[in-house]
Amino acid sequence: MNADLHCHSNVSDGTLTPEALAARAKANGVELWALTDHDEIRGQQRALAAARELGLPYLTGTEISVSFIDVTVHVVGLGFDPADAALAAGLAATRGGRRERALEMAESLARVGIHGAFEGALKFVGNPDLISRTHFARHLVEAGVCSDTSEVFRRFLTEGKPGYVPHRWARLADAVRWITDAGGVAVIAHPARYRFSANEEHALFTEFIGHGGRGVEVVTGSHSAAEAVRYAGVALEYGLLASRGSDFHGPGESHTDLGALPELPGALTPVWEALQHRVVHPQ
Ligand code: AMP
Ligand code: MN
Ligand code: MN
Ligand code: MN
Repeated sequence: MNADLHCHSNVSDGTLTPEALAARAKANGVELWALTDHDEIRGQQRALAAARELGLPYLTGTEISVSFIDVTVHVVGLGFDPADAALAAGLAATRGGRRERALEMAESLARVGIHGAFEGALKFVGNPDLISRTHFARHLVEAGVCSDTSEVFRRFLTEGKPGYVPHRWARLADAVRWITDAGGVAVIAHPARYRFSANEEHALFTEFIGHGGRGVEVVTGSHSAAEAVRYAGVALEYGLLASRGSDFHGPGESHTDLGALPELPGALTPVWEALQHRVVHPQ
């Protein structure tokens, strides 16, 4: 099954609208799709309506920013009720500090001679509540400071670099609870991206499962083939459901297109098996 359960629209830091993403997913042969905007579900009705129009089965989605032992970890939520009030409130609280953080990032960049970055980043923002590092990266490329967004992250937007501002996101327990209380399944996103020691990673998975988390991304646009093999092992070891998603942010920016992913390794239980009752099928 070509399931793609991780991507971003311009409701967060993607460049395409939910409708354009739905069309692209369909054209690329995706058979089950979820839009997972960062800390946002206000694109869900549009994604769902567009998927229905195209005959594309859909799962609701979001990607929640979490702070776990001072590291930012992303938790994907799938198949929740998009009308759940506690989930909406939790996401609104998580988004809350983004504007102040962005202003601090701009001040910090100004100290190294890069002026007007807040206003510059805002030009790339589709949702004023969701200004992200990605928007700063696009602005610094357009301004000619760097040649691509990876270079911006390397030189400016990661820990220890001049544009980086530490931020406190949601707690792991809360993020998992918002998702599961709304009827969804919580999934650890792209686990190979965090620079955890073996003990810290064990703590993450153990606490996540203790809070009711049930899944882990195994095949994602941000994992190498070797990392997918490693996290297939982790899924089996912890008894977690396996997810698959491109983490597509837009053409020309993401190296993995919607639906263009390897299969999940055999022996794993795909997360969509546990979410069959939550799939929105087109009539
Ligand atoms: P934020 O939520 O504002 O901290 O921004 C996080 C987003 O920045 C991620 O979801 C990615 O889209 C993007 N990002 C993080 N690290 C990198 C990187 N090294 N290169 C390109 N994009 C990145
Ligand atoms: Mn992103
Ligand atoms: Mn992520
Ligand atoms: Mn993502």
